[in-house]
Amino acid sequence: MPRTLASQIKKMGPGDHLCLIYDTPGEQMAAIIPFFQQGIERNEFCVYISDDLTQDEIHRAFETAGIDLQAWIDRGAFLFATKREAYLKSGTFDPHAMLEFLKSATEKAADDGFSAIRITGEMTWALGDECGCDRLIEYESLVNDYFPGSKALAICQYSRSRFRPEIIRDVLRTHPIAIIGDQVCPNLFYDSPGMVPTEKSTNDRVDWMIAQLKKFRTNEQELQSLLESKEELVEQLQSQNAALQEAEKAMQETIRIREEFLSIASHELKTPLTSLKLQVQMLTRRMEHNDSDLVERAPVSRLIQTANRQLDRLTGLVDDMLDISRIENGKFHLVKEDVDLGQLVRDVVDRHAEQLAAAGCKVRILTESEIIGRWDPFRLEQVLINLLTNAMKYGAGRPIEISVTADGLAQLVVKDNGLGIAEHDRDRIFQRFERAISANNISGLGLGLYITKQIVDNHGGAIQVQSELGRGSEFRVELPLKDAETIFSERIYPAVS
Ligand code: ADP
Repeated sequence: MPRTLASQIKKMGPGDHLCLIYDTPGEQMAAIIPFFQQGIERNEFCVYISDDLTQDEIHRAFETAGIDLQAWIDRGAFLFATKREAYLKSGTFDPHAMLEFLKSATEKAADDGFSAIRITGEMTWALGDECGCDRLIEYESLVNDYFPGSKALAICQYSRSRFRPEIIRDVLRTHPIAIIGDQVCPNLFYDSPGMVPTEKSTNDRVDWMIAQLKKFRTNEQELQSLLESKEELVEQLQSQNAALQEAEKAMQETIRIREEFLSIASHELKTPLTSLKLQVQMLTRRMEHNDSDLVERAPVSRLIQTANRQLDRLTGLVDDMLDISRIENGKFHLVKEDVDLGQLVRDVVDRHAEQLAAAGCKVRILTESEIIGRWDPFRLEQVLINLLTNAMKYGAGRPIEISVTADGLAQLVVKDNGLGIAEHDRDRIFQRFERAISANNISGLGLGLYITKQIVDNHGGAIQVQSELGRGSEFRVELPLKDAETIFSERIYPAVS
């Protein structure tokens, strides 16, 4: 962002000797007003040696900028001086006497409790008849020995149109800093003290010019390398910023998932608990009338069955959560033994007969016999139960088909004819807490397929899904075989009469 003239001028402080080359009073005041504002803020004694402009005009310019100059004057912080009070004290201009005047004014300001003295002079006074400008440049060069390290700073104002070009040229040679337009410029053409034009030999001047050029070159190189390191820094900062944003995003996502999980988990746990509570209340009411006639066997056993189902559901949820924590903590281990996959499938389906009936799903099992592997039977049952439960949940009460075959690998396929899964969801449903359906429609924690995939992966196998929205899904699990001789068999469940 380009810096304003005011902000650049406010960087100036004691020791600085500036020239202001201006064309219009507007340019002149744009530099002088912030110059004095800063001086007043820093408790510096401010002196304006006016000549070209009247004091009234200066008052008005400050007033337009919203500054009450009179208030500064009244509290003794600001003083107007004339050329006769400053430069021409002895009637003519004497550079050495002027320097003495500057020194004593600086000391007085310090004695009066100011931190420094800040002066500006409209140099048009030098164009008057009292004295020529001939010794002006000598003075400007002389003060360059004084200003550095002193408690004084000054802006010498030169109107470009009023002075001859030779004077402006020499002014530029005698001020280390120049204000040009809206820029405060370190002055490349500045001659160090003692290099007053024409007073030195040409040889000395050439030496000095070469030294200046080298200095400029070195400065430029330093600037260049500073710029390069700045760019590197900016790049580093940008990439750190990007990494931070990534981390922040990941953190937000983790928080979102956790919160979503907590809300779904509490809902999931609450539903069977509420139902269980209801069953128990109803049972209690019946028991309270402990009259064998009143306690009818059939309704009670129905209540117990429902309660048991809810207990199974709760246990399943808690088991899933425990599995997740085992997986996350690297404590998920398999206990392998020889397992007949076909047999395992039949057993699981048998045990879920009631649920299948409740879901209205017929199951067709196609198995080749003797498909044996070194697997963890408990975990493989979990795989099948998860796939079968999903086929019931999302299978819209339509038939389910399970097949167990072997073709280099054992293949377990659970196929339903239900809702199906959109293509963009097919990968993510194997991740933790990922669901492709709203919890309002069908409840679930989004953990089953994640755990299933972990189990299959741990067995050195693979799981994939093929699906068509509205037509059903087919989950295919492949597992490494032990050795298998296979005999084909088919069975329909429930048995068709
Ligand atoms: P949950 O069933 O508890 O949501 P899962 O991890 O078992 O968790 O399944 C993840 C998601 O995959 C489900 O929410 C559902 O959107 C989708 N899904 C799983 N199985 C099926 C299926 N057989 N048919 C349609 N969608 C399914």
